[in-house]
Amino acid sequence: MSFHLADPCLWCIEGSSPAGVHHIIGPVYKPCPECLPICPDCAGTAVFPADFVCIGCFQGQMATLGLVPAFCPGCSGVAYLVRTDTLPEVTPHADH
Ligand SMILES: [Zn+2]
Ligand SMILES: [Zn+2]
Repeated sequence: MSFHLADPCLWCIEGSSPAGVHHIIGPVYKPCPECLPICPDCAGTAVFPADFVCIGCFQGQMATLGLVPAFCPGCSGVAYLVRTDTLPEVTPHADH
């Protein structure tokens, strides 16, 4: 069931399928349900930021909104966002 090697999928690019616009994160991708197994840890609910540059940048961007992303251990997607009153240490450019 997992042999899609020479079969370009209509629903994704390299296994990433556009998943709309998250109200906080912005445009997001999800692992393509046609090409990839559903992640058992998040049941496929984690999303991947489309504007993603690096983990640190994304965490800093969320931190300025008072949010901390919780990453899924299974697929490394963003499982959910945690609201926090304490800025995490990943905000080197923040003006304290
Ligand atoms: Zn696909
Ligand atoms: Zn996952």
